[in-house]
Amino acid sequence: MSLVTTTDMFKKAYNGGYAVGAFNVNNMEIVQGITEAAAELKSPVILQVSKGARAYANHKYLVAMVKAAVELYPDIPIALHLDHGDTFELCKDCIDGGFTSVMIDASSKSFDDNVALTKQVVEYAHEHGVVVEAELGTLAGIEDEVVVESGKESYTHPEEVEEFVNRTGCDSLAIAIGTSHGAYKFTPEQCTRNADGVLVPPPLRFDVLKECIERLPGFPIVLHGSSSVPQEFVKMVNDYGGKMPDAIGIPEDQLREAAKLAVCKINIDSDIRLAMTGTIRKYFAEHPDHFDPRQYLKPARQAVKDMVAHKIKDVLGSEGKA
Ligand SMILES: [Zn+2]
Repeated sequence: MSLVTTTDMFKKAYNGGYAVGAFNVNNMEIVQGITEAAAELKSPVILQVSKGARAYANHKYLVAMVKAAVELYPDIPIALHLDHGDTFELCKDCIDGGFTSVMIDASSKSFDDNVALTKQVVEYAHEHGVVVEAELGTLAGIEDEVVVESGKESYTHPEEVEEFVNRTGCDSLAIAIGTSHGAYKFTPEQCTRNADGVLVPPPLRFDVLKECIERLPGFPIVLHGSSSVPQEFVKMVNDYGGKMPDAIGIPEDQLREAAKLAVCKINIDSDIRLAMTGTIRKYFAEHPDHFDPRQYLKPARQAVKDMVAHKIKDVLGSEGKA
């Protein structure tokens, strides 16, 4: 199998009541950890690259590593996706450079400007057999260069989604229902605390999601900012010299519910970062004499693999769906 688009993946996910994980890749160990887990569990997977990842690793390295994974694991469908493309030129570059899917994120613009830019990308992408994800509504949080202050985010207006999809021809739509980018998704003030004093985030807006689904029957919905920030890894980071107080994410049971509905793609990045960083911090503390990067990158890669396997089995529901 060569790289695929998400068209077939999403159709099966929609009908099967599960979602496909979209994991951000920046280096070899992350690509390996994600694809080893997906291959073992026979799950489709989306590897996504942000503008920041391209700046860090170079487009050519990233595409070559993803193509190597496709060669090694021919039995699972793998899509290569641009995360948060912000200009036509960036999307075009990725379409011309081997990606099978791009996101154009013009959600910070006016509705009409968002439509116009998205439509321009869709026309070029479809001419080249590539699919397009667009976004309506704004998520809070930080992702690479996209910074939206808490309180400045806005939920998607369901009454806009039909017109947007019809006018742009996009293939999937990211909506804002209360997920958020980064490892600090909510301020303590936005949360309540449970009996153990642990922060409990506000619930996702399933009413907004359901209204979008009613207006777009059969259409794949995407959730960004859907890491759960597992507290065991926050604790690992903090126990071994890190400082991440009150890091908090989206509860996994809510994502599982969303995956059963029309949500076909769930983006997870921070949880992989946390797993790697916690594992490396622990390794350094326990082996102060080691200096071969392979020694600490090996358990870090394993931590990525374990995290992705957990997501596939317990959150996305995509095990055995390749
Ligand atoms: Zn995002």
